[in-house]
Amino acid sequence: MSETAAVRALMEADRWIDRVSAQRSHLPEMSELATVEDELRGLVKALQEAQAAQAPVRTAYEDAAREAERLRHRANDLEKTLSASTANARELAVLQRELEHVRELLGRAEDTELELLIEVEPLDDLVSAIKSRAQPAVARRAELQRLILELQASLEEELVSLREARQERARAVSAEMLARYDHALARVGASGAAQVDQGRCDGCRIALSPLDFDRSKGLPEGTLLACPECGRLLLP
Ligand SMILES: [Zn+2]
Repeated sequence: MSETAAVRALMEADRWIDRVSAQRSHLPEMSELATVEDELRGLVKALQEAQAAQAPVRTAYEDAAREAERLRHRANDLEKTLSASTANARELAVLQRELEHVRELLGRAEDTELELLIEVEPLDDLVSAIKSRAQPAVARRAELQRLILELQASLEEELVSLREARQERARAVSAEMLARYDHALARVGASGAAQVDQGRCDGCRIALSPLDFDRSKGLPEGTLLACPECGRLLLP
């Protein structure tokens, strides 16, 4: 194999590695995951706001329900005491007045309980609605996270074997040429050589000057010019 052919084979191996690496870090599942996570962040914020609005009303409703329940018991007890009582008329009148007072309090407590119930129901509904909207997004997020790990593991496996093949190809290039190649690769990435394509370096797309173009054509085998823009070895 000629030196030029060996450099070309190495360039192709590196470009392949570069494509697979880019694929691994730009999976479509990753951008979908970002969208889903955005949506979930929005829903979490909406849920926090809905729960902040719901909490005090729900607490007030529960307090009102407990108070109504307490008064109901108290009224019941007084009724029982009254019906079983053998006390004198004066004492009975006191009990009767207390019962009327408790019934009045109970009426007001039940009104408050009902008002708060009417107020809390839509707030409860909103909290449940947000939770059920988040459910499929949470499931999709878990699925995407699993998919991304799987895809990355399989691409990583592919990269390991591509890098092995690349080392094999690098051994076919002379030490001096390989040093120039690796230097350009480390500086600009993707590959350390590029193909001259219609007078342009296909690594950085710059048009070569007519002089450079002619020089790149007329060089003896195994001599490669560097692209004046990106520094990659130019393959005729
Ligand atoms: Zn270039």
